[in-house]
Amino acid sequence: MAKKEVKIEYNKGWDLAPAPESTSHIKLKKKYDLFIGGKWVKPSSGKYFDTINPANEEVLAKIAEADAKDVDKAVKAARKAYDTVWSKLSGKERGKYIYRIARIMQEQARELAVIESLDGGKAIRESRDIDVPLAANHFFYYAGWADKLEFAFPNREVKSLGVAGQITPWNFPLLMVAWKIAPALACGNTVVLKPAETTPLTALKLAEICQQAGLPDGVVNIVTGAGATGAEIVNHNDIDKIAFTGSTGVGKIIQKAVAGTNKKVTLELGGKAANIIFEDAPLDQAVEGVINGIFFNQGHVCCAGSRLFVQESVYEKVMRKLKDRMESLIVGDPLDKNTDIGAINSKEQLNTIKKYIKIGKEEGAEMYQPKCAIPKKGYFCKPTLFYNVAQSNRITQEEIFGPVLAIQTFRTVSEVISKANNTPYGLSAGVWTDKGSKIFNMTSQLRAGIVWANTYNKFDPASPFGGYKESGFGREGGMHGLSAYLNLDS
Ligand code: NAD
Repeated sequence: MAKKEVKIEYNKGWDLAPAPESTSHIKLKKKYDLFIGGKWVKPSSGKYFDTINPANEEVLAKIAEADAKDVDKAVKAARKAYDTVWSKLSGKERGKYIYRIARIMQEQARELAVIESLDGGKAIRESRDIDVPLAANHFFYYAGWADKLEFAFPNREVKSLGVAGQITPWNFPLLMVAWKIAPALACGNTVVLKPAETTPLTALKLAEICQQAGLPDGVVNIVTGAGATGAEIVNHNDIDKIAFTGSTGVGKIIQKAVAGTNKKVTLELGGKAANIIFEDAPLDQAVEGVINGIFFNQGHVCCAGSRLFVQESVYEKVMRKLKDRMESLIVGDPLDKNTDIGAINSKEQLNTIKKYIKIGKEEGAEMYQPKCAIPKKGYFCKPTLFYNVAQSNRITQEEIFGPVLAIQTFRTVSEVISKANNTPYGLSAGVWTDKGSKIFNMTSQLRAGIVWANTYNKFDPASPFGGYKESGFGREGGMHGLSAYLNLDS
């Protein structure tokens, strides 16, 4: 008698009871004005836009839209604070304020995490355990540097730059703001920051924290709006430095706009990272690293391991393990503590991801998606795997910024290095192998700013982060992150 195949139905009968994080403790205003010169100021145009919860499409708050006049007001406030207060303070005094901000962030961590998940759609597990603690740690870390700058750059005169214009994306809203503001303040600069239009809330909460910390008026100014507001910051003639994190397309516009001016620039742009599994790798850990690298945070990660290269001899095994693990992923309510994959940040981004899934199929790649259900309301996308893809396919070349993974195989080290480097980007990569020598060989040949070995997506304030090629230039984090906010020429 033929043996009956046993079919495993994941998430059937094993459903976890809902465990949503409470929202009763969060304090959100119905309407947010601009934070300029230490005060909440109405936008000169009187215009406001909605920020919504991508998990249920409900409006969370109305946000002021800053125009040229408002940006000018913010730059003037930042310049005044720089000239009269901040540049005159000792590093030790600046450090005290930055420590205070970090401490208040820690105290309000739970509220910040819930707001981050509500506004951005990321699973609470991520915002609670990664985004918010790391953001506070960045303030702690740079507070420590504020009075030690001359030791970071011995025999060089360290001078602050002045007013920094900073523009951030929506994928790590609070963390990117921390990466920008903490080193700028530690080095003695004042800032005008614009958060992404779809996720402004935690930056505005940080403005409240700056007030609670007693930070002198005008040292941090937060102006909200979309690309046009960002362009007003970039083109303002009294800004000394532009720090931008976002897409390569906008990065190129910014670089052209500042060419020939005195402004210093750092650009942290897109990526198309290669995650490489060798046959001698610990395969279960590697598969977990791949899942973490592309599916958590909905693939909204600049350094997401969106291209997976598997050595041919273990390809079948890795595929089986990967599909099994994908079946157990929970897609749904970002506030639920069991959720692995929350909501896609916006309808626009969901449409972009859907467009690439269609392109992948049309290009002839084979697709796999788990059977999990996704909520009817809100912007959700199943984790998606493409295999039998070609190096020339658009899904292997272009940044999708969603939970979409393209798998290829390789036989030799030189083959995988040439395939992994065959991209306009150069932000990050991952290597999974048992051999230390192989890791060192790979890290020296992979053209990526960050290479993780036997792990993925690990961040630390003391560790520099940044790319090359079309992933941008300049480093954030660590001691390297200080030089982006200092004049070391003299
Ligand atoms: P985006 O470029 O569309 O927007 C980023 C920010 O720039 C937003 O605040 C936006 O309002 C603003 N902006 C848009 N047009 C502008 C203009 N002409 N002038 C000035 N500002 C302008 O990017 P996004 O969709 O918000 O974020 C996703 C991108 O960010 C991805 O490409 C991702 O890889 C990248 N990213 C990179 C890093 C890194 O460290 N390298 C980190 C996070 C995200």
